[in-house]
Amino acid sequence: MLTRVQHIVEPLFANMSQEDVDSLLDFLGGSLYLPVPVYKEEELYPQLLRPETFLWKEHSLQRGIPIEKEYFYPQNYSALSGKELERHLSKIVADYLFCAKLHKQSQEQWIRRLEDAYVTHGFIQLANEKNSVVEAVEKMNKNSLLSVLHYPEDVAFWRHRVEIVMRPYRHVPDEWKWKMCDHQKNLVMQAENDSIHCRCETCNYGVTYHVSTGQVTLPLEVDLAQATKRIATIERQFNDMAEKTPKVISVIRDLHELKVALTAQSQRLEQLVLFKHQVEALSHPLVEAYQEILSIHLPLEPVEPSLLSLVSVEIPDMRVLKKVALWKTFVQDGLESQLEMLLENWGQAVEEAAPKATDVVFQMKDLVLMRGDAEKIKEFLEDYEEEVPTQMLVKILNGEGTSKIRRLSLHEAPIFGLLRDWPSKYVTKALLEMR
Ligand SMILES: [Zn+2]
Repeated sequence: MLTRVQHIVEPLFANMSQEDVDSLLDFLGGSLYLPVPVYKEEELYPQLLRPETFLWKEHSLQRGIPIEKEYFYPQNYSALSGKELERHLSKIVADYLFCAKLHKQSQEQWIRRLEDAYVTHGFIQLANEKNSVVEAVEKMNKNSLLSVLHYPEDVAFWRHRVEIVMRPYRHVPDEWKWKMCDHQKNLVMQAENDSIHCRCETCNYGVTYHVSTGQVTLPLEVDLAQATKRIATIERQFNDMAEKTPKVISVIRDLHELKVALTAQSQRLEQLVLFKHQVEALSHPLVEAYQEILSIHLPLEPVEPSLLSLVSVEIPDMRVLKKVALWKTFVQDGLESQLEMLLENWGQAVEEAAPKATDVVFQMKDLVLMRGDAEKIKEFLEDYEEEVPTQMLVKILNGEGTSKIRRLSLHEAPIFGLLRDWPSKYVTKALLEMR
């Protein structure tokens, strides 16, 4: 068998250039041979070793090479016919020569070359340059602002184009935008087309590096001229839609002014919001505007009818746009004095609405239970609810000092006799109402 191998391989080596022979000699540790693995008792191993086994690695000769599937070619070479063996061996010699050339530089150096080639790939460069547009398109595609731009058929068309234009950008995982990810890479040698496939298992993505040209190809290659045109077109088409909707743009500008004016008064407005929490009926367009504006994001500068400007606009509820004209009328002049007046009025309203001890909480004919007394009963119940059933509570409130009540010293409780003149059925009713 070895003679057969020798017979096929020798002329292949003999036809090589001196440079290739030198590379192989260097790679194989000084002698020109094709490693033929043997195991135990000098028996031939049925498969031949892949050159990657030696690439950028040192194997101990004593310990030998671990028998792992990835180190061997799958074919059982002794079972091949003469022609098949010839084909198999010439492929293997080509693989060895390819690895021998790669071996001249370290794995790290090749990965660095790959990283450089990746960022200079035409599409990656385009995507990097246009990254703000790419991100803006994706964001705007989900923004409800689109729904208020005229005309709906333009918007539908634009969205349809977005799906086509964004495909190659979406195909690249986030970690590879727009440089290679930092994870560990798996390099697969492809001697037959002079390339290395560089793959990240974490990202489930890889690119192919062509050794002779020093360029990479992506799994999804695009026509660069077309891609360049398309990304520019998608931006322009959006800008055209925005320009056709000047009303919306001007309302967003008004909203911007409102936001600036109201934010400057946030301290007063926050106090008004607190008052509103206490008395629900209080309302004023300025406070409503302020509360709405808190959830709206706008760019620092007034908006322009363009993708890159409008992408920073986030309005959770588009109905707000309809209210801006009204809100604006309140902000025009004397905002501060308006708010001061509101603060005074609302402060008073809150004070008036606050519960008082003399508020009537229950009334039956001329019998009246006031908040102050009701509070006393509630306090008592907090302490005694478990021990005092309703029936006994009624007696305590009526001032009936039964022996049980006396035994528990409840005739000394502050609520004893509080509703002395009340018929007990009304006391029960008042208690029910209180709960
Ligand atoms: Zn990765």
